Amino acid sequence: MSGAEHEYPVFVGPGALSAALPAFVARGAFSRVAIITNTRLAPLYGVTLADRLPDACLITVPDGEQYKNLHTLARLYRELLAAGVDRSGLVIALGGGVIGDMAGFAAATFMRGIALVQAPTSLLAMVDASIGGKVGVDLPQGKNLAGAFKDPLAVFADTDALKTLPAVERRCGLAEVVKSALIADPALLDELSGDPLPPDEEIIARTAQVKIALVNQDRTEQSVRAFLNLGHTFAHAIEQVSGYAWKHGEAVAVGLAGAARLSERLGLAAPGLSEQVENALHRLELPTRYRELDPADLWAAMAHDKKWRGGAATFVLLEGVGRPRVERNVAAGDALAVLKELRA
Ligand code: NAD
Ligand code: MG
Repeated sequence: MSGAEHEYPVFVGPGALSAALPAFVARGAFSRVAIITNTRLAPLYGVTLADRLPDACLITVPDGEQYKNLHTLARLYRELLAAGVDRSGLVIALGGGVIGDMAGFAAATFMRGIALVQAPTSLLAMVDASIGGKVGVDLPQGKNLAGAFKDPLAVFADTDALKTLPAVERRCGLAEVVKSALIADPALLDELSGDPLPPDEEIIARTAQVKIALVNQDRTEQSVRAFLNLGHTFAHAIEQVSGYAWKHGEAVAVGLAGAARLSERLGLAAPGLSEQVENALHRLELPTRYRELDPADLWAAMAHDKKWRGGAATFVLLEGVGRPRVERNVAAGDALAVLKELRA
C-alpha cells in the first residue's frame, strides 16, 4: 500500500518489525538511528529492535497520554542531542498513537526536521494515527494543540505485536475500523458483523486504505478528510464531560451509534441504519450507550467543539453505509433528542 501524493510505503503483516524494518533501515544512509518508545514497549519490542539495528539508540519515555506534552518533548530533544543524532539521523516511533504523535513531532522539528519511520504497535495506531501525517503534543489547554504535518518515510505495522495489546485497546482500535467501514467500505462492515472476523492484516490494510484515500484527496482537512470525524463530535463531548474517564475508542463507538440515529432522524438515511451500526458494534463488544452523563452537558460541550466554525452545529452523517456527508445547521432539538436516546 502507498499514499499517492506524499508517497510512502505501508507494510502490514507479521514480522514487519523483525525483518522489513531492519532491511529498510540498512538500505538508508542514516548517520544515527533513535528508536523512541515507552517503558511498557521497550522490554517487549524496543530492546530487540535496537539489537537488530547497528548503531541505534533506544529512548524510553513514560507510558500514557499525560506524557504527550512539551515537557517530554523537551526531554526527547535533549536525548536526541546526547545520542549524537544529527540532520542525517532517523527517528523510529515505536508504539501506539501517543508515541507516534510525539516522536513524530520531535522528528518534524528537531534540527528543522529529520527522517521519520512510524512503527505502530497498537491497532489504533496501525489503522489511524500512523497514517496521514498529523503529529503533535497536547498543551495544558487541550489535546493536540501543538503539532505539524510530517510524513514518515514508511510505516511498519507488525501484526505480531497485537498479541500483547490489551483487549480494551484492541476494541478501541476496532471502533475506528467500524468508522472507516461506515465511511467507505460497506463490505468490511458486513464482515465485521459476521463470524469469524477477517484476519488482522486484512482489517488493518482495508481501514488504512480508507484513510489514505481521503488524506490523499485532502491532506489539510479542507473537505473530505473531515469524513474521518464521523462519530467524533459525540465522542469528544463524551470524553470531555466524563473528565476523560471514557476511552476515545469507546466514546467513538457511542458516537457512531449517535451519528447513525441522527442521520435517520433527519431523514438522510433509511430506517435500519442505526440497527446495522449497533449490531456491528455489539459484535465487537463495543458500547452504543452512555449512562452517567447529562445530555444537556454533552450538548453544551459539542457547542464548544473547535470544528464548529461560525457556531453552526455541524456533524458528519451518513446517507447510508459508504455514503458520508457533512451536515451543517443541525437543530439543537434533533441533536438533544438523539443524545437522550443514547442514554441507557
Ligand atoms: P496509546 O499510544 O496510549 O496506546 C495505548 C496503550 O497500549 C498504551 O499503554 C501503550 O503503551 C499500549 N500498547 C501499545 N501497543 C502495545 C502492544 N503491542 N502491546 C502492549 N501494549 C501496547 O494509545 P493509542 O490508542 O494507540 O493512540 C492514541 C493517541 O493517538 C492519542 O494521543 C491520539 O491523539 C492519537 N491519534 C493521532 C492520530 C493522528 O492522525 N495523528 C489519529 C488518531 C489518534
Ligand atoms: Mg479518533
